[in-house]
Amino acid sequence: MARIIDGTEISRVMREELAREVAALRAAGVTPGLSVVLVGNNPASQAYVASKTRACETLGMHGQTLNLPENVSKEELFAVIDRLNADPAVHGILVQLPLPAHLPYKAVLEHIHPDKDVDGFHPLNAGLAFVGDPRAFVPCTPAGIMEMLRREGIPTRGKHAVIVGRSLIVSKPLASLLMAPGPDATVTLTHRHTVDLASFTRQADILIVAVGKQNLITADMVKPGVVVIDVGQNRVPDESSPRGYRMVGDVDFAAVSEKAEAITPVPGGVGPMTITMLLANTIQAARQVQPAREGPGSQR
Ligand code: NAP
Repeated sequence: MARIIDGTEISRVMREELAREVAALRAAGVTPGLSVVLVGNNPASQAYVASKTRACETLGMHGQTLNLPENVSKEELFAVIDRLNADPAVHGILVQLPLPAHLPYKAVLEHIHPDKDVDGFHPLNAGLAFVGDPRAFVPCTPAGIMEMLRREGIPTRGKHAVIVGRSLIVSKPLASLLMAPGPDATVTLTHRHTVDLASFTRQADILIVAVGKQNLITADMVKPGVVVIDVGQNRVPDESSPRGYRMVGDVDFAAVSEKAEAITPVPGGVGPMTITMLLANTIQAARQVQPAREGPGSQR
C-alpha cells in the first residue's frame, strides 16, 4: 500500500512556522492582512473564502471578506479593488473565482496591484514566476505541491513528471516549477486532446492530476512505484454525510494506492496546502513592503 502524503499534517507544521513569521512582523509593527472579495452567493465559494479568512486569523493575521452582490458592476468592483490597492493595511488581495459571467475575470485579476496579487494570477507575476524571479507570487496550488514534494523528501531531479491538465491556475505554473533548475524534472503536460493519455501517465515517476473528473486515472494507467498528486476536487452525492455529498479526487484512490509508492488523499492532500501557501504569499507581501527589506519587489 502506498504511503499517504498527509497535506493536513504538512500544513500544520508549515502554519506553525508561518505563525512565528507573523509574530516577528507584528513585533516590527506590521500585521499581514488579506482581503478576499467574494461576488455573489455561491456556497462552495463562500466555504472556501471562510476557510481562508479563518486560517488568517488563527495565524494572527488580519483576514477580511468583502461580500459584493451578484449583480455588482465592473466599475463598482474595480472601485473596491482600487480602495484595497491603496490601503497600506491590506497586503494581499484575492478575488474569489469563478466570477459571474458579466464580469471580465481577466481584467478583474489584472486590476489587482501585482505587489498584492497573492494568488499569483496577474500576468506580471505569471511572467516573473516563469523566469524564476523570487519576487513572483507563485499560484498557491502549484507552490503547495512543490512544498509537499520537498517536505516529503520525494526526489524530482531527472524524474519524469507527467501532469494531466494545462490550466493557468495549476498545471502550467507547476510544469514551470518542476522543470526549473533545482527540481530538474523532465515534464510532460497532457490535456483533453492528448491521444492515448494512459501511454503518458504510465511513464510517470510523479503523476499530477488536475482535471476535475472522478476516476479519470485508474490503476492500469500508472506504473508501480509512482508518486501520485491528486489535485482534483469532485463532489459526489453521499447520503451518509451531513452535507449530502463527499469530496473525491480525479484518481481511483483505492486501486491506485495498491501500486503507488506515495499518494495524496482527497480531502486532506493538496487542498490544505493551497490555503497554507496563500498565507505564505500574504506574509511575503507584507515582508516585501517593509522598509528594511525594500528591494526590487517594491519597485514594480
Ligand atoms: P480547469 O481549468 O478546468 O482545467 C482542467 C484541465 O483538464 C484542462 O486543461 C483540460 O484540458 C484537462 N482535461 C479535461 N478533460 C481531460 C481528459 N479527459 N484528459 C486529459 N485532460 C483533460 O481546472 P483547474 O482549475 O486546473 O482544476 C482542476 C481540478 O483541480 C478541479 O477539480 C479543481 O476543483 C481542482 N483544484 C483543486 C485545488 C486544491 O486546492 N485542491 C486547487 C485548484 C484546483 P483542455 O485544456 O484541453 O480543456
